[in-house]
Amino acid sequence: MGHHQTVAAAVALHQADIATLAIHADSHLAVTADLAPAINVTSTYKLPEKAGVDNYGSETHVYTRETSPIRSRVEAVLGKIHDGGHAVTYATGLAAMFALLLHLKPRRIVFCAGYHGCHAVLDLYRKKVAPLEEVSITTPLAKDDLVWIENPTNPTGEVYDTRHYADHAHTYGARLVVDATMAPPPLQQPFRQGADFIVHSAAKYLSGHSDVMGGVIITRCCQDAEQLKIHRTVMGSIMGSLESWLLLRSLRTLDVRVMTQSRTTAQLVAWLNLATRGCAHDGLPANVVAKVFHGLLQTLPKGFDVCSTFPHGFGAVFTIQLKSEAHARRLSQQFSLLTAATSFGSYHSTIEWRHGIDPKQLPTTLRVAVGLESIEDLKRDWRRALNAVCTVEIKVSAKL
Ligand SMILES: *Cc1c(COP(=O)(O)O)cnc(C)c1O
Repeated sequence: MGHHQTVAAAVALHQADIATLAIHADSHLAVTADLAPAINVTSTYKLPEKAGVDNYGSETHVYTRETSPIRSRVEAVLGKIHDGGHAVTYATGLAAMFALLLHLKPRRIVFCAGYHGCHAVLDLYRKKVAPLEEVSITTPLAKDDLVWIENPTNPTGEVYDTRHYADHAHTYGARLVVDATMAPPPLQQPFRQGADFIVHSAAKYLSGHSDVMGGVIITRCCQDAEQLKIHRTVMGSIMGSLESWLLLRSLRTLDVRVMTQSRTTAQLVAWLNLATRGCAHDGLPANVVAKVFHGLLQTLPKGFDVCSTFPHGFGAVFTIQLKSEAHARRLSQQFSLLTAATSFGSYHSTIEWRHGIDPKQLPTTLRVAVGLESIEDLKRDWRRALNAVCTVEIKVSAKL
């Protein structure tokens, strides 16, 4: 690409939308005329003839643990869609989280995370790396402390006031990390509410097709990203080349996928919530659903400017609580379209009884991840499944 074109592309991308950035933010890194990036899985590179040992130049790729062209492209897009931050990718979301803890070395942490794997990382860090005291948000903090929120939180889909947590951290010179896995761009831009770092499991919405393991840290400041990349080269916790390629491919449609999933979820959550009133509703049985949890149904804390934090709607994960544990244990197997499976963020809907893997979750609850199926088909499936759990019970009691 000629210099003239590069400048023109940069001008076109100035203030561009997420949808556009996700498609074009890496165009300056295209080295061939291929419209789609090539699948390049090399581990090592032929060195340029003139290069000496210490002057490869910044654009020279040497060994894939350090850099690779596809990784540069996917990181360019990930940074740009997060308000022009600097992205560093990892083998998994938890590898990213561990890398960030090693980089920041907090003395104390306020940890508002729901995902049990994040707690396991914290435990391992504490056991093997350094003591890390967990304190509550009401505790006065100090400069080397860290506030970590998962927004929205897994598994309920309920939201936090990022601004409030950022202000609290910054009052003491501490820093705020937002795990935004459950609501990627365009749903939220945590840097605008004061977050210092954003992390994601790329296995969820960013890749969106249940076929990638990956994680990412996005920093405001490029020195942090440079440091993280140096550490990553030593730890070797890189995302694979094929995974990077799949992730880049998926990011092209992030905006349209996430917006559709968010809209479908809002409709489904509001509809299911009407079944909590104790009477049958639109084909849903009475007295089966106890409560639905999601940002949409949450009582928000005073002063939370939710419209600025989530300007386009909430995430596509929610939790449903049934009145009986027996119903909850059976429900996930009653659907035709929803698959009983862990994880979320993909094009297909999934449902999971979480108590089995996370005993902190009530045995009456299930986590639901809404995919890209149509709302009417999903409603039909929910009617069928919720009615089926009651029918099973009637059959069982008839036999007795
Ligand atoms: C899945 C998940 C992670 C962990 O990511 P992996 O890629 O599975 O390591 C971290 N945070 C949240 C909120 C998640 O849902």
